[in-house]
Amino acid sequence: MLSSRKPLPSQARFIDPFQPEHIRRLVGRFGSPLLILDCQRVRSQWRRLARALPGVALHYALKPLPHPALVATILQEGGGLDLASTGEVQLARRLGAPPARCIHTHPIKRPVDIENALLFGVRTFVADNPDEILKFADFAGRARLLLRVAFRSATAVVDLSRKFGCEPADVPDLARLAQRLGVEVRGLSFHAGSQAADATRHVEAVQECARLMAAARRAQLGRFDMLDIGGGFPIDYLQPVPPIGRFCAPLRRALAQLPRGVQVIAEPGRYVCGPAAIAVAQVVGQAQREGSRWYYLDDGLYGSYSGQMFDHVRYRIESLRPGTRRFPSVLAGPTCDSFDVIAEGIELPRLNNGDLVVGHAMGAYTSACATNFNFIPRATVVTVNAHPRDTGSVTPWPAAPRPPRLP
Ligand SMILES: *Cc1c(COP(=O)(O)O)cnc(C)c1O
Repeated sequence: MLSSRKPLPSQARFIDPFQPEHIRRLVGRFGSPLLILDCQRVRSQWRRLARALPGVALHYALKPLPHPALVATILQEGGGLDLASTGEVQLARRLGAPPARCIHTHPIKRPVDIENALLFGVRTFVADNPDEILKFADFAGRARLLLRVAFRSATAVVDLSRKFGCEPADVPDLARLAQRLGVEVRGLSFHAGSQAADATRHVEAVQECARLMAAARRAQLGRFDMLDIGGGFPIDYLQPVPPIGRFCAPLRRALAQLPRGVQVIAEPGRYVCGPAAIAVAQVVGQAQREGSRWYYLDDGLYGSYSGQMFDHVRYRIESLRPGTRRFPSVLAGPTCDSFDVIAEGIELPRLNNGDLVVGHAMGAYTSACATNFNFIPRATVVTVNAHPRDTGSVTPWPAAPRPPRLP
């Protein structure tokens, strides 16, 4: 078990940075726009998922928000990391992550990425095709593989089996190839699709993988005693989802059917960081256009709201101005591109320039995929509750430029 079961430290020592008074205080101190990341919410998401999946070793997938304070919080919780690039390996190393708790799950890597991860001490990698397995011939004895299997998802918001994963029927041939090269195959992995509507695909994938692993063990193609069930655990956006314990119930039942001795790991991303951050933007200008009030913000589709494009998510957005009378309004981003519109027909009170607008559940796939198009800087990430009594601090973000090969 990677996740610890320590009781939460006394709540009184932590603040709730999503309260309007703290949002205003943080904007006063750090300016706007902000992404406010609450490490205490990271901890509770982590512990909720660990309770929902007992016996499963959780590895936080850095991709949705590779922020050092967030990664450090996971490490304090005793969690593992799912790394997918040399930059992410470098961050894990800088934070002193124990390499034994890290896996590398990008199915396509440059040899230098494999070397960098090995140099750091990662042992477990993912491959899904013969070309990639051949790359490991040079590292036989030092790396072990999980074969990623594709299970297409029609119901997940983001289907992660279109671009990656082998056909289930290809598993034996891939395992035989690895065996010929002297590369150990430990088991299988899959990603059932991000923001899954329910656990049906996870369950089907576990059952199919169990059959494939049993067949591979019978054919003496390797140990096949590790199953990586990926991520995909959903969170509330405008559409509420079941609580994580209920979402995972069928998955728990499927995992309970696995033979004793199969080690199960998971790679949650969105579930851990999504609800732990809010985006705060300021109204910088306004105009009346075709019957609607347009408010121009200092953050938009090329910034924190990039998730509306890349991640296909709509966020719950509200203003901090009290007011019962609401008017259909438009929220637009700061760039000169007319495409940069966050929301139309949103009901808001009459706002003044300088008023703050808050987007909820904006930790995952937001800041991480933001750009500085038009030379407009991304939102500053402020972390709060990284330790008790931490009322807000800024770490240089994104990380410094990365060398291709670690020194
Ligand atoms: C993106 C990704 C994850 C995280 O997925 P979520 O849906 O955010 O939980 C996990 N594993 C891999 C390989 C990924 O690419």
